[in-house]
Amino acid sequence: MLKKRSRGKSKWQQDLGLERIKILFDRADFEFKKHPEHSHRYVQLARKIAMRYNIRMPKSLKRKFCKKCYSYLVPGVNCRVRINKAKQALTITCLECGNIMRYPYRRGET
Ligand SMILES: [Zn+2]
Repeated sequence: MLKKRSRGKSKWQQDLGLERIKILFDRADFEFKKHPEHSHRYVQLARKIAMRYNIRMPKSLKRKFCKKCYSYLVPGVNCRVRINKAKQALTITCLECGNIMRYPYRRGET
């Protein structure tokens, strides 16, 4: 028998949580130009939802916020993105707190 019901959260709750996370990131993106501080708040809310429902942040969203200070990150505005071809890694520097994050990537994937 499958015994993988961690914390008793059902699939549909996770799906719903994921939808809410995506909406929060959309809003963060939308508000960033006018109210970056609102964007940071949305990221924190999204993270809370992820933890509560035991949801893994989608890859595409993981790179949009700082793992240390949870700021919403926009390349060229408050973060710096560098591609290290030798190591096949993406380096993102958060300009809010100086945290450096590294993400491995495969060829053909940016
Ligand atoms: Zn940061």
